[in-house]
Amino acid sequence: MPHDDPDHPHSLLPSDPALRVRALETVLTRKGLIDPAALDAIIDTYENRIGPRNGARVVARAWCDPGFHAALMEDATAVVSDMGYYGRQGEHMVAVENTEAVHNMVVCTLCSCYPWPLLGIPPTWYKSDAYRARAVREPRKVLAEFGVTLPEATAVRVWDSTAEVRYLVVPQRPAGTEGMDEEALMDLVTRDSMIGTGLAVSP
Ligand code: FE
Repeated sequence: MPHDDPDHPHSLLPSDPALRVRALETVLTRKGLIDPAALDAIIDTYENRIGPRNGARVVARAWCDPGFHAALMEDATAVVSDMGYYGRQGEHMVAVENTEAVHNMVVCTLCSCYPWPLLGIPPTWYKSDAYRARAVREPRKVLAEFGVTLPEATAVRVWDSTAEVRYLVVPQRPAGTEGMDEEALMDLVTRDSMIGTGLAVSP
């Protein structure tokens, strides 16, 4: 099989599905049937808006409501299911909370397990070999590349997702948000802050 030979020139091309998608996109664009900017907007919607908004609501509510917070930490699967966030890739959820003492970060070292009903589809970097290997080996370095520098005293705990268990990071509530309600707080909860590669945004 020439395609399996690393020295064969074809191996420089993307894998078959990626190649087909790119070829299809090129043809459709040339024919004026699709607009690449519109495609990017659609992908952005699923990757950054619809999905993570669900998780952001969970986090914002946990920040506002101590009873909800306690229930979420106790049994996240039940709590998020009650909110309608369940289904494929979200069957067994565990919430882990960031504090001054510990920062949690999520990876799937084996593949790309991710809590779809709460966060949408995983970003490309989450599925990359580099993130999957380095998140475990050198988490602080990876965090620094995401722009997150933690105090030395803060421990970093890395959680390995599986098909059995997926994690939601509850980031620390930023200072100066005391008067904000759930809706307003949601805007501060980024996707990356719920993976642990980011922090909640300060208002
Ligand atoms: Fe996986």
